[in-house]
Amino acid sequence: MSAPATPLPPGSTIGILGGGQLGRMTALAAARLGYRCAIFCPEADAPASQVSALTIRAAYDDADAQRRFADSVDVITYEFENIPLAPVEALARLKPVRPSPSVLAICQDRIQEKQAMARAGIGTARFAAIESATEIPAALATIAPGILKTARMGYDGKGQARVASAADAAAAFTRFGSVPCILEAIVDFACEISVIAARDASGNVAAYVPVENRHVHHILDETIAPAAIDPAVAAEAGRIARRIVTELDAIGLIAVEMFVTQSGDVLVNELAPRPHNSGHWTIDACATSQFEQLVRAIVGLPLGSPERHSDARMKNLIGAEVEAWPSLVAEPGACLHLYGKGEARPGRKMGHVTRLTPRGS
Ligand code: AMP
Repeated sequence: MSAPATPLPPGSTIGILGGGQLGRMTALAAARLGYRCAIFCPEADAPASQVSALTIRAAYDDADAQRRFADSVDVITYEFENIPLAPVEALARLKPVRPSPSVLAICQDRIQEKQAMARAGIGTARFAAIESATEIPAALATIAPGILKTARMGYDGKGQARVASAADAAAAFTRFGSVPCILEAIVDFACEISVIAARDASGNVAAYVPVENRHVHHILDETIAPAAIDPAVAAEAGRIARRIVTELDAIGLIAVEMFVTQSGDVLVNELAPRPHNSGHWTIDACATSQFEQLVRAIVGLPLGSPERHSDARMKNLIGAEVEAWPSLVAEPGACLHLYGKGEARPGRKMGHVTRLTPRGS
């Protein structure tokens, strides 16, 4: 397909909503290509602010701060999907937001996400939307045992409960604040994988190889790249991710988390319209990292090659695990990334380490 029209030249400024480590690594990749970044976030001394030219520290719904931010940037992206939608829509009236607010709206809501997959004929766990407690018995009659998840604002297993009966589900629904939920059938998966696909404004798509993700206490612990799966399953996962980024008409990245079932089917679990923890290995193992790929897609540069020169294992450093940094930084060949966060609270992602091996070894 054609090259993107009129890229923003180096020296332009990329606005990033959110100040976490994904914004930080995006800003570092942007800087390498000569772009500046401006961060909009409510927190002081955010990981992304530490490496960016400018931070506007304000609540996302502060209209004056939105205008100042929009005036300082040429294009806007976001580094987490639980950002309130209205400010993103307001910003989109002032400057291009990529991926668009309509993509964000779908990815913020597990019901919309699953419905979008159903419309595209892409497999997911069986599901039922639960908007009110009265819908629980009928849903449980077809999906039990299942997992009840809040439709919005869930992450790292928060807002989720395994439920075997209507009584369990009703109790969990109340505990979650009677907000809209989704009931999903439990998938007996062989492994969890993800594919990160990038798409530019001309519709060109580039996807990274599927990787396996291992979780501890619902938080990603390790990513193994590539996933040790049947080549036909890997090809199917790649096709699904490419299809999704195209169907959503996204400009930027979509990370697609999937289950591989015992029988080799690939089911989509959830989407993230941003760089993803399971793509951190690409910084050290690929010609173009997921962060550089995002920058390229949103400023209108040609997408880079997603090919890897090495295989990789990425280990998150969560909470006190970061205290191992002196030995990790001394370990030959270990690629250590620390996020500049102060306090190593339990469950907090403090950094990661990627270890490379020769490709195909
Ligand atoms: P999520 O927040 O949807 O990514 O879910 C967090 C984790 O819970 C996933 O990585 C899976 O390990 C597990 N999980 C979520 N949904 C299901 C499901 N429908 N069946 C089995 N396990 C699930």
